[in-house]
Amino acid sequence: MSYNYIKTLIYGISSELNITVKFIGDTLEECVDCLNIDCSWAIGSNEIIIGKYLNDENMLISFFHEIGHILIAKEYMEKWRYNTLMIELECWNIGIEEARDRGVLFSDNAIRFGLEKVLTYCGHDERECTNWYDTYGKNLIINIG
Ligand SMILES: [Zn+2]
Repeated sequence: MSYNYIKTLIYGISSELNITVKFIGDTLEECVDCLNIDCSWAIGSNEIIIGKYLNDENMLISFFHEIGHILIAKEYMEKWRYNTLMIELECWNIGIEEARDRGVLFSDNAIRFGLEKVLTYCGHDERECTNWYDTYGKNLIINIG
């Protein structure tokens, strides 16, 4: 799958789910310097920002992970409120299932990329990019800890 194909896929699924999607570089060029590579963000329940990725499949699986953040059940969030690791794992699972439902099957390498992201939560309850609020002035959908 080419970068443009993946981007078209992301736009299509976003519109299906009534989610606004932005790619950093298209609209947030001024922020590029202060944002990490290989990061995306779900903002509220209807917006996803996709950062710069070194690998297109990792970009796609990360998009689905953010979908997981948007679709995750409130009850699950409440139940695991004190443990971001459990919430992150669930969001990866939801996202990968959503992808599968649409005929997208990820390679083990992409799933491993997600798992490695999850493991960064071990031992410290932090979001992927803790500077996002300062940078962008909005709360993330996950606002725990
Ligand atoms: Zn996450």
